[in-house]
Amino acid sequence: MSANESLNWIDSQQSALVETLKELSAINSGTGNLNGLASMEAAFSDLFTPIADSVEVIVSEEAEHADLEGNLQTTRYGNMLKFSKRPEAPIQVLLVGHMDTVFPIDHPFQSPTEIDDNVLKGPGVADMKGGILVMHTALRAFENESTNDQLGWQVLLNADEETGSHGSKDALVAAAGTAHAGMIYEPALADGTLSRARKGSGNFTLVAHGRSAHAGREFEKGENAILALSQAMGQLAALTDLSRGLTVNIARVSGGTAFNVVPDTAVCQFNIRCVRSEDQIEVKQQMDSLLQQWNKDSRASFELHGKFTRPPKEVSPGHQLMMEWLQDCGAQLGVDVAFKDTGGCCDGNNLAAAGLPNIDTLGVLGGHIHTDQEFMLMDSLAQRAKLSLGLLQRLATEGEQLVTLREGA
Ligand SMILES: [Zn+2]
Repeated sequence: MSANESLNWIDSQQSALVETLKELSAINSGTGNLNGLASMEAAFSDLFTPIADSVEVIVSEEAEHADLEGNLQTTRYGNMLKFSKRPEAPIQVLLVGHMDTVFPIDHPFQSPTEIDDNVLKGPGVADMKGGILVMHTALRAFENESTNDQLGWQVLLNADEETGSHGSKDALVAAAGTAHAGMIYEPALADGTLSRARKGSGNFTLVAHGRSAHAGREFEKGENAILALSQAMGQLAALTDLSRGLTVNIARVSGGTAFNVVPDTAVCQFNIRCVRSEDQIEVKQQMDSLLQQWNKDSRASFELHGKFTRPPKEVSPGHQLMMEWLQDCGAQLGVDVAFKDTGGCCDGNNLAAAGLPNIDTLGVLGGHIHTDQEFMLMDSLAQRAKLSLGLLQRLATEGEQLVTLREGA
């Protein structure tokens, strides 16, 4: 196929893509629904296997986190899928998508609806089942062309991105180590804007242990864990520094039992985000010294669980180059390609931290993600597949520059 024939072929796929997307959206794949995720795994395996040299099912790691009672819980995640093509080629690109959504199996939002002739509403239509179809269509078109022996690819589809990729992060980092460029299929904004730099993020749980006592008979023997925790929370919240884009969000609190009991346990869950890696290190040190101080000064004792799992994604030279290439591809297609910084995180953060330059919003155009109003623009399926095809072609011809950057790093 010539380059023009490839673009026409992508356009010819448009209505089939919408139909497939509706089928995928109707399969519930909330991160905790392992049966639904197994169905997604089967569906994507059917789609990608015919164009890949090899297919691998990877079992996700289990992860531990502290719950709102302060107890450690183990969570299992769905399997990952890995497809690869031409692993021997000199330039390697890693394409990443997630099969899970934020909608659990008992959520009322379970099926797709066409709102008008270009808007499809439905769970995962934008985030990111539509995006994985964009990826697949671009790869099919790329494989139909003849000039592809310079570029090999790996596709990694994980099943726990929406809860922070705790079970898939090691596989992501390992795959990043063998690639020179990353392409991730989170949705772009509805106006087409893609993400540039991203904040880093960490989730933490602070547990305060006091001493319970009868509030009437021996109040003075008690040590109120809720009061101790509330003072600590105030100090945590005060670490927020908006001038540096550093935020501490106290997200959930629990504690206490009955009116007549001095509470012996209180738990708070909070999220920290920051723009720069140095700030992440600094705020972690501040938290550690606060923890020491609380345990020294207070009669209550404190435990801190959690860590930063999404490092900030800052713009590297390779990332800059990829953004320029994508803008060139857009210009050839008559599509305006603009980038904007965001406070949201995705697997692009972790791939960038592993040294892999990547563009992470190559999926469909859409909005209201993570709500029951999630929608995507249907014509963006073909449009974004053409854009990705352009980037794959550019990587095949000029990706050597990224190889040099990676080796020089
Ligand atoms: Zn997503």
